[in-house]
Amino acid sequence: MKNICIFVLFIIFTAVFQYEVQAQTELEIVKKVSNEIQIDSLNSFLKDLTGVNPVIIDGKLDTITGRYAYSEGGVLASKYIEENLRNFGYKISSQAFTEYGYNVIAEKSGILYPEKKYIICAHYDTMPYIELSPGADDNGSGTSAVLEAARVLKDYNSNYSIIFALWDEEETGLEGSKYFAKKAFESGEDILGIINLDMIGYNVNDNLTVILTVEDSKELAYTVIDINEKMDVGLTLQLDINERPDGSDEMSFQEYGYKAILLEELMPRSYPHYHQITDTFDKIDHEYHFKNTRLAISTLTYLVELSEATFVNEDNFVADYFLKQNYPNPFNPTTTISYLVRERSNVNIEVYNIMGQKIKDLVNQEMKSGTYEVEFDATNLPSGVYFYNLIAKDYKQTNKMLLIK
Ligand SMILES: [Zn+2]
Repeated sequence: MKNICIFVLFIIFTAVFQYEVQAQTELEIVKKVSNEIQIDSLNSFLKDLTGVNPVIIDGKLDTITGRYAYSEGGVLASKYIEENLRNFGYKISSQAFTEYGYNVIAEKSGILYPEKKYIICAHYDTMPYIELSPGADDNGSGTSAVLEAARVLKDYNSNYSIIFALWDEEETGLEGSKYFAKKAFESGEDILGIINLDMIGYNVNDNLTVILTVEDSKELAYTVIDINEKMDVGLTLQLDINERPDGSDEMSFQEYGYKAILLEELMPRSYPHYHQITDTFDKIDHEYHFKNTRLAISTLTYLVELSEATFVNEDNFVADYFLKQNYPNPFNPTTTISYLVRERSNVNIEVYNIMGQKIKDLVNQEMKSGTYEVEFDATNLPSGVYFYNLIAKDYKQTNKMLLIK
């Protein structure tokens, strides 16, 4: 009798433990990534972009003194941004949209839903239209934050695709983002959310940041507010819905019905160096800039469902197979298991109990490439930990799930 008691206790303990682990997983990865964001790295990008530090572009030493539209500095800046993104291992898909206009774009393919995308973006062009146009706050602050996002996310997988975009010619009328958004809309691109960063470095009022958006996109804003609290970012957020016409590149996307928000300091006009040659690196409150960057990256991390990069191929970010965590989990009595097959093959998904006995073959057939879902019904099974695995060719992945009745 005593032995049985201990065994039962062990199972209950395991079950509770698994439950806690699962409940924490989503935010755990957000916290892990958040801890990898470095204020020194962020500042280093910003110093490079604003001419404080020299840069090496095309193997030559140079300085970015300005990045205004149609300028040589703008070309230099676009090359600098592109080289960084390429060095991080991303696929580059930049767009030259006029003779001078150039959007720098990098992509990370999602493992489970490669066709569904989230965008983190900022404009890199500056004001005023003269050679010395450092644009530290407007918008070196947003550009460096997107580069930092690209740096910290490079070694992870995500279920959804991520686009890192740096727009040109925002100051001349949102030209770069308009071009991208129109093209995306016309080709039916499935963009789930856009986080735009423009002027996030000047601390006007005690760590106050505005989320500027429209009615249609407010759910995305609520996610940002939620992450600010859960991650203890330390910003005071003010949600402005439909209140101001003076937005930034997020408006180009909102026009086509995409869900987009802008993060920015109180108001552009509240920055005394707005569109002046005095918009320099020393005007930035680095702690405040860091907090905004952390908020943006944490929200993105959460949205794209990041995971450790265990299935990464050498030459690409995309695995041939992928078995997703079941949902819901814990469950009672049914749960859904999603998986990806990239190559036609025989796929087997089996469920085992904690004793290692096979309960069921959920899938056992030849399948063509695609993303699939299968339901597991545990109506006649007792509460406890179960395992399910996907076996295809030389791939085998096992996940745990928890049935609580
Ligand atoms: Zn701006």
